[in-house]
Amino acid sequence: MKSHAQAVVIGGGVVGCSVLYHLTKAGWKDVVLVERDELTSGSTWHAAGGFHTLNGDPNVAKLQDYTVNLYKELEEISGQSCGLHLTGGVQLAGTKERMEWLKNAHARGRYLGMKTEIISASDAKELMPLIDEKHFVGALYDEIEGHLDPSGTTHAYAKAARIGGAEIVRHTKVEDLTQREDGSWNVITDKGNIHADHVVNAGGLWAREVGRMVGLELPVLAMEHMYLLTEDMPEVAEINAATGKEVIHAIDFEGELYLRQERGGMLMGTYERAGRPWSPKQTPWDFGHELLEPDLDRIAPSLEVGFEHFPAFQNAGIKQIINGPFTFAPDGNPLVGPVQGLRNYWCACAVMAGFSQGGGVGLALSNWMVDGDPGFDVWCMDIARFGDWANLAYTNAKVCENYSRRFRIRFPNEELPAARPLRTTPVYDAMLAHGAVMGDSWGLEQALWFAPDGVEDVFSFRRSTDFDHVAAECAAVREKVGLSETSAFAKYEITGPGAETWLSHMLANKMPREGRIVLTPMLNEAGKLIGDFTLAKAGPELFYLFGAGSAEKYHMRWFEAHLPEDNSVVIRPLGLSLVGLTVAGPKACDVLTKVTDEDVSNEAFKFMDFRQLDLGTIPARVGRISYTGDLGYEIWVAPEYQRPLFDRLMQAGEEHGIRLFGTRALMSLRLEKNFGTWAREFRPLYGPFEAGLGRFVDLTKNAFIGRDGAMAEKENGGKRKLVSMVVEAGDADVIGDEPIWHGGEVVGWVTSGGYAHNAGLSMAQGYVPAALAEDNVFEIEILGERHQARVQAEPVFDPEAERMRG
Ligand SMILES: Cc1cc2nc3c(=O)[nH]c(=O)nc-3n(C[C@H](O)[C@H](O)[C@H](O)COP(=O)(O)OP(=O)(O)OC[C@H]3O[C@@H](n4cnc5c(N)ncnc54)[C@H](O)[C@@H]3O)c2cc1C
Repeated sequence: MKSHAQAVVIGGGVVGCSVLYHLTKAGWKDVVLVERDELTSGSTWHAAGGFHTLNGDPNVAKLQDYTVNLYKELEEISGQSCGLHLTGGVQLAGTKERMEWLKNAHARGRYLGMKTEIISASDAKELMPLIDEKHFVGALYDEIEGHLDPSGTTHAYAKAARIGGAEIVRHTKVEDLTQREDGSWNVITDKGNIHADHVVNAGGLWAREVGRMVGLELPVLAMEHMYLLTEDMPEVAEINAATGKEVIHAIDFEGELYLRQERGGMLMGTYERAGRPWSPKQTPWDFGHELLEPDLDRIAPSLEVGFEHFPAFQNAGIKQIINGPFTFAPDGNPLVGPVQGLRNYWCACAVMAGFSQGGGVGLALSNWMVDGDPGFDVWCMDIARFGDWANLAYTNAKVCENYSRRFRIRFPNEELPAARPLRTTPVYDAMLAHGAVMGDSWGLEQALWFAPDGVEDVFSFRRSTDFDHVAAECAAVREKVGLSETSAFAKYEITGPGAETWLSHMLANKMPREGRIVLTPMLNEAGKLIGDFTLAKAGPELFYLFGAGSAEKYHMRWFEAHLPEDNSVVIRPLGLSLVGLTVAGPKACDVLTKVTDEDVSNEAFKFMDFRQLDLGTIPARVGRISYTGDLGYEIWVAPEYQRPLFDRLMQAGEEHGIRLFGTRALMSLRLEKNFGTWAREFRPLYGPFEAGLGRFVDLTKNAFIGRDGAMAEKENGGKRKLVSMVVEAGDADVIGDEPIWHGGEVVGWVTSGGYAHNAGLSMAQGYVPAALAEDNVFEIEILGERHQARVQAEPVFDPEAERMRG
């Protein structure tokens, strides 16, 4: 075993081996993988080995597509068979809603280049003769589905990595990790130590324990998972003989089952509703190549449905039931990337579908380690998407929820209940008393909309019960005045003599004058969008930065990695030590005037001003800015003042007909202004000029991160362009990720949209090729049907921005 390496990968499951292979491929040869037992000794060895590309999240679908296409390359390089069976598969819908979900997935697949097909139940029966078609209304066929040999595939990665120069050390347990001053690591094993520049936690079932070695509590939990294997079945032999092929894969969403052929019989697995966590606190180190006790009772309800939907199983003998554990993050996606606050410690954990996702995870992580950037948009699996609030209890509750819902539809307006309420602000109860329907925003309860007594959210792909009420909230803002909460934003305080110079290096826009606000993108080295902020200068060495709440850790990781070493700048995320309310609408100034003695008239307190204001006895910082696109103020206070502030504003607004509005109304109002949002319109996939943020990029100021990339994009015009569109929709608006058609071809995709209530229009935002952006003949596919969409270059509400400016 080497005593020094550029990187040590801990764990020889499919994920660790993939990371190792991809590191060698990216040019790092001095890399070692340490495995406490034989390779595959975690969850990998007993996996069912199924793979597919289809996923509700297009970014996960891309990652899966890369993984599946990698296997041929891997076999060629390593000479080791992965045991590939590319059978194709059907995903079966038993309800109209599921069919709509499949149509959505099919439509999204189009812009990813996936060749899926929507088929009838009888077509599905022809392709997969074991089904009883009367239980199904249709299906989606995907030719890129199949299964492989988990052990062969892991060894193929390992062999290819060895060929690339890597060393693999088996039967060696990493017992501890200690960090040196220069950020490198002592990897302490039971067979001696390795000094490593970087370590990768690919500990799979032991990822939590490998995290705890460095004081991390990773949000990951293993669940028991069962599948059964039947004896040989004559029906399978018949299909094989008639088609000359294996029985294809099937997913039965209503039965919450997946099935495929295994030798002369079938394999049927289920994600049962009453899923059971495995080792919820600590994974035993002596667990190895053993299986867990099967529990037929737990999966019986699913199997009963399965035997009905696939009648041949009724006569089949069950040869074996496999029960094994594997890990999940709270949302079911992997946890990948560098950890904020820990230098040179990388994660490749919680990969619940190692054979669909392991390749993509290895590619992203190796790019990140070698080039400093994952190379593609990995937000959906970035470890930074969870905050410190995602502790063990939270994780365990959410993972159980996610497991039990694995094959259930999550509607676009559906909020999941587990581990809630988690974080609340002082106005939480008051909001509830006004009928707030709450949503979870990075662990924080935030009002989505306000429901009259007896009205509830009905989950749907179409317009629902909230429609008229959200419309009324929008009308209140446009016609009178609305009040909403802004605490879910991330807020950072930046202080120190170097603050301004540093911010100007980090952010793309010019710096504001004292008492003023600017909007500014943040770019990565390649000039792509990694942030979209409001920056206020509150004093010579004091700035406040406001951004997306869900990206707080993601942004802090970036900020910390770029702080000067001379301590001339301090950045502090304020979390809920600063909370906010906003008033917006034509009467907003009147309301503010009533709660303060200071002059807040249009002349004294201008659009984009930022001031310290006493609102009576309440000290506040107030910015004259509003994402509603109306006259509005964002009011920031310490939490102990939020509740009295709420009462005073509501009282002051009474004579003006003040009404509470939630984030759904806000999202509707911003559509009328063509305002984009972080993680939808603004992501590292896009440059600032493509995203229509060019006016917030000052290429003439000092050099800043990403300037060269932005300059090049400005010169060549960018590949694509973000456009706002008005859609001739029916009773369903876009959700996001729908394909945009032009001239009979898919040319782009929707990033977000919905119903713009005030304008009475269905609207969408999305990216189209720059050359087509001036065109006006697009169609957007919603729930399987194409609808005309015309570009709306100017905001439909207040194009001259007179309302904001006053
Ligand atoms: C019953 C079942 C069916 C499944 N079916 C499928 C399927 O059809 N398709 C699919 O894609 N996925 C499936 N999976 C999931 C799949 O098995 C996992 O996604 C995959 O195995 C995760 O691999 P990993 O490398 O992250 O973790 P693991 O396989 O758990 O590997 C982690 C490795 O790290 C080693 N290790 C940990 N700590 C240390 C240490 N301190 N020092 C040294 N070594 C250490 C362990 O010994 C282990 O070998 C299934 C899982 C189960 C249980």
